[in-house]
Amino acid sequence: MRSFEYSAPGSLREALEVMEQHAPDFKLLAGGTDLLVDLKHSLNGPTLVMDLGGVAELKGIEETPSGLRIGAMVTHTEIQQSPLIAKHAPAMIAAAATIGAVQTRNMGTIGGNLVTCVPSLDSGPVLVALDAQVTVAGVDGRRVLAITEFFVGPRQTALAPDELLVDILIPTPMLGRATAFRKFGLRKGQALALVNAAASIAVNDGRIIEARIALGAVAPTVIRATDGERVITGKSTDDVGALREAAAVAVTEARPIDDFRASAAYRRELIAVGTFRVLEEALALATSS
Ligand SMILES: Cc1cc2nc3c(=O)[nH]c(=O)nc-3n(C[C@H](O)[C@H](O)[C@H](O)COP(=O)(O)OP(=O)(O)OC[C@H]3O[C@@H](n4cnc5c(N)ncnc54)[C@H](O)[C@@H]3O)c2cc1C
Repeated sequence: MRSFEYSAPGSLREALEVMEQHAPDFKLLAGGTDLLVDLKHSLNGPTLVMDLGGVAELKGIEETPSGLRIGAMVTHTEIQQSPLIAKHAPAMIAAAATIGAVQTRNMGTIGGNLVTCVPSLDSGPVLVALDAQVTVAGVDGRRVLAITEFFVGPRQTALAPDELLVDILIPTPMLGRATAFRKFGLRKGQALALVNAAASIAVNDGRIIEARIALGAVAPTVIRATDGERVITGKSTDDVGALREAAAVAVTEARPIDDFRASAAYRRELIAVGTFRVLEEALALATSS
């Protein structure tokens, strides 16, 4: 590992000023569960590592007039333990519980998870299903993006070199929306997703009036299966066949790859099964509330 300077700003303004001075030759440190592995294996590391642990503006989970705000530095364990998340977006807890082991969840943050932007990231699908937005900041100000705009490609986000992720917002209309998450890996614990899936459903008067299907590890970034969503929108809440059809259509929207962990054909089977299960579960939640 190459040696580097360490900086620990006490505010967002201070952090952004240091970033502007050093861009692009710095790395931000959140929980470090990804970054430290990278630094140890890299011969050309940054000259500066800036620890975001002291930046209060990046922490906390709170209800705001626009929705539920989750700071980028919130850990997966904090998500699991948050009464506000349990009330408004419990599928986030289901997703957080699948990330690594307790130690990883204690250190790893939701912001770090999203910024790594690997196709299999487990925070992504539920946030896409809940139509989340992210706020990013640089010295010149803030930008708000849809989470789907934030994910650009494998390990590539919409962040400019001198910007950081501030927080994630679940918009008010999506709070309490019936949502389900499933992850398929090679084993139950400590495994990256071969496929992960989330769905949210709203019903009215016996019909599905809105559905969102999000799939991870099946394309360069987390995707929405919008054709599958259209199959069930407007359908009766009793129409289980429509859920199966939507799942089959979602398979055609994904671009899974063959790799050493699974074949594309196996992943397509998982997409069909996973999409059906999250739709079934979200619909059951929607119709029971
Ligand atoms: C053993 C192990 C198991 C794992 N299992 C899983 C798993 O099952 N599912 C899963 O999805 N992930 C898994 N991970 C990956 C990792 O733990 C998560 O992605 C974690 O959430 C990363 O967060 P962090 O705070 O540790 O990020 P860090 O390692 O601190 O940072 C990761 C990247 O994000 C950047 N960054 C962090 N915060 C910000 C910010 N606010 N603004 C801009 N850039 C930022 C950093 O500069 C760095 O490039 C695992 C990792 C390990 C080591």
